[in-house]
Amino acid sequence: MQNDGLTGLLTFEEFVSQAGAVICAHNKPYIVAAGDIGDFHYININYGYDVGDAILCDIAEFFRMFVPNAVLCSRTHSDHFLLLVNIEDIDSERVLREVKRLKEVAKDIISKRVKGVSPNLNIGINFIDGEETNIVAAVDKANIARRVGKGNYNLPCVVYSEHLMDIKENSAKILPIFDDSFRNESIRVYLQPKISSETQRIIGAEALSRLVDSNGNIIPPSNFIAALEKTGKIVELDFYVLSFICKLIRKWINSGIEPITISFNLSRMHFYSNTLVEDIIRLTEEHNVPPQYLEIEVTESVFFEAQEMIISKVNALRDYGFKVSVDDFGSGYSSLSLIGVLPVDVVKLDKSFVRESLKSERGNELMRGLINILNEIDLEIVCEGVETKEEESIVNKCGCDEIQGYLYDKPIPTDEFEHKYIKA
Ligand code: C2E
Ligand code: MG
Ligand code: MG
Repeated sequence: MQNDGLTGLLTFEEFVSQAGAVICAHNKPYIVAAGDIGDFHYININYGYDVGDAILCDIAEFFRMFVPNAVLCSRTHSDHFLLLVNIEDIDSERVLREVKRLKEVAKDIISKRVKGVSPNLNIGINFIDGEETNIVAAVDKANIARRVGKGNYNLPCVVYSEHLMDIKENSAKILPIFDDSFRNESIRVYLQPKISSETQRIIGAEALSRLVDSNGNIIPPSNFIAALEKTGKIVELDFYVLSFICKLIRKWINSGIEPITISFNLSRMHFYSNTLVEDIIRLTEEHNVPPQYLEIEVTESVFFEAQEMIISKVNALRDYGFKVSVDDFGSGYSSLSLIGVLPVDVVKLDKSFVRESLKSERGNELMRGLINILNEIDLEIVCEGVETKEEESIVNKCGCDEIQGYLYDKPIPTDEFEHKYIKA
């Protein structure tokens, strides 16, 4: 029997052969689960390969000993694992609950070896019945689901379905469109105003990107951000946007206009670069843009992993004079204790959180309480997704400083934005 030399788990070939035999012999429902450790290369690079190896052995041991009903476990390569789990008498909801629990335990195991780092386990699941004969295809499907869920901290795991194939095909179509637009400098940068609740005047804007297909149709970020994150091209996009807004702000300054602060989104992928801080500073200096006119939005989930490393980079960016905001707060596993340690200036309450809170009196209370706490520690608050006057009035009563939502404007092309909001 073939085993992986490091962890003692089955090799891929052995897994496939044994899984075929097990399923054929028992004719019961199973799941194939494919997992990998999020950002494992970061651990190897920063803590050394010995630590990386020790973590792989810990996780292997954990899978072997503590996953209920696991029949087979394999490490196929690097930090990639496969499990075959018997789910006879277990409904799919319980499977998902179990996965969530196991992920939490795995996080603890990893963070014991690397203080301050608690990476997410990415897990894809494929439900199979006792008739399944093509094990390699079943594993492929679990892996497709695993990749689709990468970086999404709100999901315990992704379950394979035919619909995921559409997402995969979409990625294949998007990348050439992005490459062309990047080369031709034709990525669109839209701006959405942020409005002061007190004065109802514009006090800033967020830059949001759009792609355009060959028929001239606008492609929204929901159709391309995930694909760009998976390939690392998101780094090119974000620097493109930053450079675009730097040129715009420089143009305003040259025309004697006092600029508003423009925020841009910085994907989590950037934080692996050792030159992130220098790269951002160099770009703004090239355009001679004072840092107070730029705000960097980082989604809250970024702070769940490698906290010390992220915090030190965010500190360096703030020390230089950029504002930093936590984006999408309230969309995932937000924690108030996290906000306490984050070196940020602004908290952007996610539109889903805002919408939910506005639905009930209790929700309003919760939002008021949260905003009070954030105000106490001198954080600016932006409420996203405000669409009606009524919502605005509730949000104002809760003490929110700034509003970004369709009530005032959608993200619009920059020339339209200048026409509406920037007075020469
Ligand atoms: P985000 O950074 O949270 O941006 C706010 C999103 O909320 C925008 O969606 C905006 O159009 C939408 N929004 C604002 N007000 C309302 C409202 O009242 N109602 C509704 N229904 N939606 C509202 P958009 O432009 O589709 O962008 C989606 C996400 O894609 C952004 O969320 C951001 O995370 C990401 N994104 C967009 N452009 C970039 C980029 O250049 N780089 C990176 N890394 N991410 C980007
Ligand atoms: Mg944002
Ligand atoms: Mg947001």
